[in-house]
Amino acid sequence: MYAGPVQDLIDELGRLPGIGPKSAQRIAFHLLKAAKQDALRLSRAIAEVKDRITFCQRCFNVCEGTYCELCNDPRRDATLVCVVEEPRDIVAVEKTGEYRGLYHVLQGAISPIEGIGPEQLKVKELLARIDTEQVAEVILCTNPNLEGEATAMYLARLLRPLGMRVTRIASGLPVGGDLEYADELTLGRALEGRREMEG
Ligand SMILES: [Zn+2]
Repeated sequence: MYAGPVQDLIDELGRLPGIGPKSAQRIAFHLLKAAKQDALRLSRAIAEVKDRITFCQRCFNVCEGTYCELCNDPRRDATLVCVVEEPRDIVAVEKTGEYRGLYHVLQGAISPIEGIGPEQLKVKELLARIDTEQVAEVILCTNPNLEGEATAMYLARLLRPLGMRVTRIASGLPVGGDLEYADELTLGRALEGRREMEG
């Protein structure tokens, strides 16, 4: 529709999650009109994260270097592992101030519709940690929606025979929503009220 570079930019923006063709066009023309240094700040920020930030080799949180700050912190209780879908969920749990254990980021949730099964998630890596670390309890802190519940159920079935406590955050969170939208108090209570997974 447009000349080469403009269309390239629209196409790239349109590949981002939650950005439809109309939004992609609007953002592209916003960048075209913006001062050069302002637009380039965005491209530099992207280049910077791609150069410097990777995923923690233990918990798959975002980090600089091999391990993230949480994994490197000796004051954290390494017998507790809170399983979340995305690094942003760690931020949500940390904000509650109720949790002093470690995390494991699955980098997604089971979703048959999107063709995402356990093989696409960091499940193997979780099992490897349980094999080598002294984990007493795994807290399944996936989102309170269809995919999150299916993922929690799958992991509970997988983990329970291995002998550690497997718990799920309490209901009471807005159903169908994401953890990141829950307020700190509600999420803190859901963590505190976590229950043994059954069935
Ligand atoms: Zn880590």
